[in-house]
Amino acid sequence: MKRQSFLIKYAEIGVKGKNRYVFEDALVKQIRLALKAVEGSFEVLRESGRIYVNALSEFEEEDVVAALKCVFGVAAICPMVQIEDLGFEELKSQVLAYMEKVHGEGSFTFKVDARRANKQYPKTSEEINRELGDVILQAFPKLSVDVHHPQVMLHVEIRSRINLYSEIIPGPGGMPVGTNGRAMLLLSGGIDSPVAGYMIAKRGVVIEAVYFHAPPYTSDRAKEKVVDLAKLVARYAGPIKLHIVNFTDIQLYIYDQCPHEELTIIMRRYMMRIAERIARDRKCLGLITGESIGQVASQTVQSLAATNEVCAMPVFRPVIGFDKQEIVDISQRIGTYETSIQPFEDCCTIFVAKHPVIKPNIHMIHKSEGKLTEKIDQMVKTAVETAETVLCQ
Ligand code: ATP
Ligand code: MG
Repeated sequence: MKRQSFLIKYAEIGVKGKNRYVFEDALVKQIRLALKAVEGSFEVLRESGRIYVNALSEFEEEDVVAALKCVFGVAAICPMVQIEDLGFEELKSQVLAYMEKVHGEGSFTFKVDARRANKQYPKTSEEINRELGDVILQAFPKLSVDVHHPQVMLHVEIRSRINLYSEIIPGPGGMPVGTNGRAMLLLSGGIDSPVAGYMIAKRGVVIEAVYFHAPPYTSDRAKEKVVDLAKLVARYAGPIKLHIVNFTDIQLYIYDQCPHEELTIIMRRYMMRIAERIARDRKCLGLITGESIGQVASQTVQSLAATNEVCAMPVFRPVIGFDKQEIVDISQRIGTYETSIQPFEDCCTIFVAKHPVIKPNIHMIHKSEGKLTEKIDQMVKTAVETAETVLCQ
């Protein structure tokens, strides 16, 4: 008896009424997308407030579970056996077959938890629990019942058909991608920005990304690393359009014209301006960064305020209050860490001053940026127009 189906549980908070359909449609779509990468053929069905994945061919349970664990909106994955309702005697023998196949010979405590969505069923939930519990005890003498903390909880859901499952594998939670608009992630090769993108996508936001590249100061390998990171985030967020902006001329111009201790902050302001322009063109409603208060000189509250000043769009900074270790923990869990720590230069570190300003004075910054008026508008325009787009999936 192979568990050929999966019951998908999702958190129902905030998914009432009309929202519920939007949420469920998006979830079904994302599940189908995730299963495309899995060997085998599957159908995803929505049936009276439940979502089922049924395998229509041979498949590896592990691969299906791994794919579903990346779909935001999935609260839990329950591998299950679905049987026709052919009477209680038949149910008893199916339950015994299930216990033998799935839980084998071991000795453990269990409990039967029956639910009747079909109220016409001739037995009450209590009767089903008791009678199924008894046959299991008779067939497997090593087992015992524990109604409070059973090691195995056998769920028996009586609907038009009957679902049997005893394993509840946690999903990633969150909201299905596609239910909450679109935002532009500033994706560097570091640890923080992939985590930031993951966190916002988890709330249902479609993400695109922009990477500032400074050839020949930053290598092709540095760029490939960012493409790799975008692909890793795309496992959860769905395909990501990555816009690669050539930032070299702008950086050199700032380096020439402005005080070196203000370089980082002025550069970051131009990154935000360019990212916002591309975001508008791409119908994004917000920007996302991996900034965290106090992590480096460009992330003091004063620096963040100075960087934030140049954009009108909301900037989402989901790791703003996290310690580095907390961000590292997430990046390890989602699988971006190993790629993030590959040692390739970042454009921010190449032109960095020995003693960058930590508390930038916004009037001084304005004054310094005044020295760029001759060429900067054209340079920004060129940078936006020559951006190269790579689809990462
Ligand atoms: P990360 O680990 O994300 O690189 P960081 O700790 O290195 O962050 P900074 O280099 O100050 O921090 O960058 C802060 C944020 O600015 C990044 O999280 C990212 O969102 C954005 N950013 C920095 N450099 C780039 C870049 N070259 N291209 C795109 N975005 C960038
Ligand atoms: Mg960085």
